[in-house]
Amino acid sequence: MSRGQPPWQGSTRRQDLPGNWPALRSAAGRRNPDHVCHWCRRPGGEALDHIDGNRFNNALDNLDWIHDWRSVKAGVSPVNCHGQKTAADRLSRDRVERHPALAALHPPT
Ligand SMILES: [Zn+2]
Repeated sequence: MSRGQPPWQGSTRRQDLPGNWPALRSAAGRRNPDHVCHWCRRPGGEALDHIDGNRFNNALDNLDWIHDWRSVKAGVSPVNCHGQKTAADRLSRDRVERHPALAALHPPT
């Protein structure tokens, strides 16, 4: 399903959503009517998030609500939970994948 785009081109994400995305959103809304954020456990999450971070895993079990910048802008959540989650994912990936590069950039003195 990848179109060969580099993963940092986040602006293309929406094109990767499946055709039944509106139905998945409805189903997720029925399961969690208050849109309780799976990150902070407060209601009002705007965005339907891929819990495991794999945007191609559209199993309903892998989808749940989260606050993103829209929730912050709307005053629903003080924090951008999706931003926090993405940053946390990136940190744990960096530890595994980028450590050799960082070590090369910052050799022990
Ligand atoms: Zn939240």
